[in-house]
Amino acid sequence: MTMLYYSLNKISPKVNFSEATIHGQAPDKGLYFPENIAALPGDLINNIANYTNEDIAYKVIAPYVGDTIPAEVLQKIIRETINFKFPLQQVTDKIFSLELFHGPTLAFKDVGARFMARCLGYFLKNEKKNTTVLVATSGDTGGAVADGFYDVDGINVVILYPAGKISTIQELQMTTHGKNINAIAVNGSFDDCQKLVKQAFTDTGLSKKLSLTSANSINVARWLPQQFYYFFAWKYWADKDHPPVISVPSGNFGNICAGILSMLGGIPFRHFIAASNSNDVLSGYFKSGVYSPKVSVATISNAMDVGDPSNLKRVIELFENDLDKFKKNVSSFSCTDEETKQTICRINLQYNYLLDPHGAVGFLALEKYLKKQSGQKGIFLETAHPVKFLDVVEPVIQKKIPLPTHLQNISHRKKNVTTMDANYEKFSNYLLAMG
Ligand SMILES: *Cc1c(COP(=O)(O)O)cnc(C)c1O
Repeated sequence: MTMLYYSLNKISPKVNFSEATIHGQAPDKGLYFPENIAALPGDLINNIANYTNEDIAYKVIAPYVGDTIPAEVLQKIIRETINFKFPLQQVTDKIFSLELFHGPTLAFKDVGARFMARCLGYFLKNEKKNTTVLVATSGDTGGAVADGFYDVDGINVVILYPAGKISTIQELQMTTHGKNINAIAVNGSFDDCQKLVKQAFTDTGLSKKLSLTSANSINVARWLPQQFYYFFAWKYWADKDHPPVISVPSGNFGNICAGILSMLGGIPFRHFIAASNSNDVLSGYFKSGVYSPKVSVATISNAMDVGDPSNLKRVIELFENDLDKFKKNVSSFSCTDEETKQTICRINLQYNYLLDPHGAVGFLALEKYLKKQSGQKGIFLETAHPVKFLDVVEPVIQKKIPLPTHLQNISHRKKNVTTMDANYEKFSNYLLAMG
């Protein structure tokens, strides 16, 4: 039987993994959610150290993919998606770092983007018409999507980013691929980019001429493979009799949502911490029981500057709309930029471990939590390489950070980017001209 996905708005019909991936969002604008949580074989949880990462990833994702991709194709997709390391490094006597930044664009979004690109490439391979993937980014998503979709047949990618508001490395990662990857530097904010993309999706004239889809994090093909991290963390965790607390630097809540799914799928994690910067929506929700989105504010951990996290609805669904259950399993945490910087500096001096601003938020959240829980240990997810945030990290530690070897020549590559005002007519003309 194949897994079906329903819309959280409960109006649109159920679809399989292929439909959910191609369309991203349900017609009623709800997020797709799997009909049930895959029950994984007990041996995978109890003897996980005997499995290769590829075996683990296949067993975890196959129930969600169902019969929409043949086994050998799915195995190849997984092999190509996770062909780098996910090491668990000990930082203090109680705190471990799960390093998710060893992929090509140095942030954890590589896994979801690479997996989704390959699934979409497979689903669309017999389409005569090219598909255009639109994505607005505040920094990290664009690079991961560009890398993941580069040279995938039949797919054009258009990335919109706010001109002058992303880091140098992030910009190079989106503008130097060429071929099917197109970048637009928008004279405006991230919200302006997002608005242009949203307007394109509701433009029926445009969608008659182009097949448009989105590669943002609400897509099930980006969300679900993030479970792999948690299974790898469990594999590398030595003391299986004392499972860890997991701290996740959170913005749109896609990553932590995958973590909670992996716990419900069988990993006996003790507890989760949703670690946020000053864009903290969870604490208020936990206190009052009423969710109210906020306008996001800019911080130094900018990939988490989200005031209305899309995947929170999925987390609530995972806990069956039971707020007490949610609170029992997840703690909220928020810290200021000043605390983030102090943490980067202190951990570098004390433990000789260099955090990026997102990982630093996760570390501090975990450290504070463990102070109140004697005997427990934990893992925080280090979601980006510190070199991606040079402008923040170098002044804090007062040292230069060397670029990893595979990025050393990126600054010599040719940049190819269109600059555009935040004007919908110009944007739609651009898309039509691309064909
Ligand atoms: C996207 C991102 C996050 C936030 O992840 P969500 O799934 O949106 O909660 C955290 N850290 C980094 C480095 C990111 O790029």
